[in-house]
Amino acid sequence: MKTGEGLVLSKLPYKDSHLICRLLTRQGYKDSILFYGGLGGGKKSKPSFLEVGNLIQFTPANSKRYSDLSGCKEYKVQWQHKNVKGHFRAFFLRNFIVELVDKISVESQEDEMLGDEKYFSLLSNAIFYLEDSVMNNKFSLPQQLALFLGKLIQHCGVYPDYQNCSFCDHPLSQNEKPILDFAQGGFSCKACQEDSIIPRIQEVWFWEYFSTIKNVSYKDYEHVENYSLQALKQVLSYFLGQFQIGQHELKSSSFIFH
Ligand SMILES: [Zn+2]
Repeated sequence: MKTGEGLVLSKLPYKDSHLICRLLTRQGYKDSILFYGGLGGGKKSKPSFLEVGNLIQFTPANSKRYSDLSGCKEYKVQWQHKNVKGHFRAFFLRNFIVELVDKISVESQEDEMLGDEKYFSLLSNAIFYLEDSVMNNKFSLPQQLALFLGKLIQHCGVYPDYQNCSFCDHPLSQNEKPILDFAQGGFSCKACQEDSIIPRIQEVWFWEYFSTIKNVSYKDYEHVENYSLQALKQVLSYFLGQFQIGQHELKSSSFIFH
């Protein structure tokens, strides 16, 4: 069987010394793998590198011992984060990021590769730059969260059009004070807002957020504005609303948005 690579999404101890991990493979689909001896410890006190967010290279054994599960004895860590675990806010954010990506990526299919490599690159970038920010004392939860949510929304194909009014196609600028229409998934210009019979709250920062975050690359995370968590919670609501996911379904979100 071919060697594969994947980021650990979750792990479960199995019997005395093994671990069952769900991985997001480089091809962008989820696969559960039984790592023999993966829990570490034992006579040689082997440490376990099978930590959530780490990149693992593995070679599954030829015979499948369990119906859906590949067993694997040969594996090594390709990349691991070391500083995030020692920083509780970064640690909570790591869990939140991993949980969201886990939720939106597809399970492995026997022959059909339904995976999307974008999700692998999104998750690996998010964890890599999270670690980078903690390591260099540049960690800011709002900056990392704002960037992750923006890239997530972009990768999922529900990024709102911030260039033109979604009702009349009029070009949008800051002067228009564009307002995000959640149901429409786009912004409305001043004239269309006046036409609307539904009163809306003027939340102009939404437009500023969406019109800038798309063009910021992960390595420039320091230049992202420090949005309030309240504002970012609304960005999350926008995303979840597009996929009919309730915020209560995300266990880790209460550690981010108190
Ligand atoms: Zn309009």
